[in-house]
Amino acid sequence: MASIRQIVIFSQGEYAGMNLDGIREEISRCRRCALCEHRRLSVPGEGPCPAEVMLIGEAPGAQEDLQGRPFVGRAGAVLDRALSQAGLQRDRLFITNVVKCRPPSNRRPLQGEIRACRSYLEAQIELVRPRVVCLLGNVPTQALLGMQGVTALHGQVIEGHLVTFHPAAVLRRAELEPLLISDLAQIGGLI
Ligand code: SF4
Repeated sequence: MASIRQIVIFSQGEYAGMNLDGIREEISRCRRCALCEHRRLSVPGEGPCPAEVMLIGEAPGAQEDLQGRPFVGRAGAVLDRALSQAGLQRDRLFITNVVKCRPPSNRRPLQGEIRACRSYLEAQIELVRPRVVCLLGNVPTQALLGMQGVTALHGQVIEGHLVTFHPAAVLRRAELEPLLISDLAQIGGLI
């Protein structure tokens, strides 16, 4: 029997006829920006399709680059812990990043890289059709809402986007963890 993921496809535009697996394949051979030069694996994202909740982070890190999966390194452990504390099941969420290949030395993705990768993210949002998009940190908040300042914005729902901290920020500042958890705990009330 065909899965829901296989049924959801685009009927027109750049990704006409594609489902989420088609987008994944496009990403795996993508050379639209220089981040392709050093990647081991692209990290398209993972999760059910459709999904009520989509989490969007910044970019893959070292472990993600090795495994081809999002949030599997130290920041991923923080995210898993926070999701659990917030009463959310990771396998029911779709999780991805603004850019799908690891920036060198884990630097922030450049604006040109974000622009080059944007159509993949937009396609994923359209296919997954989340009721809530959770933006993890300043990079996705800037990319999706054109706003900066997660310290002030966290916990707010703006045009269907819940803004919170990136789990990597919790690794640098442990006092942010309860805030990340309480922000994520709002999701249950939004879906
Ligand atoms: S980051 Fe995005 S645009 Fe750049 S090479 Fe990877 S998939 Fe392509």
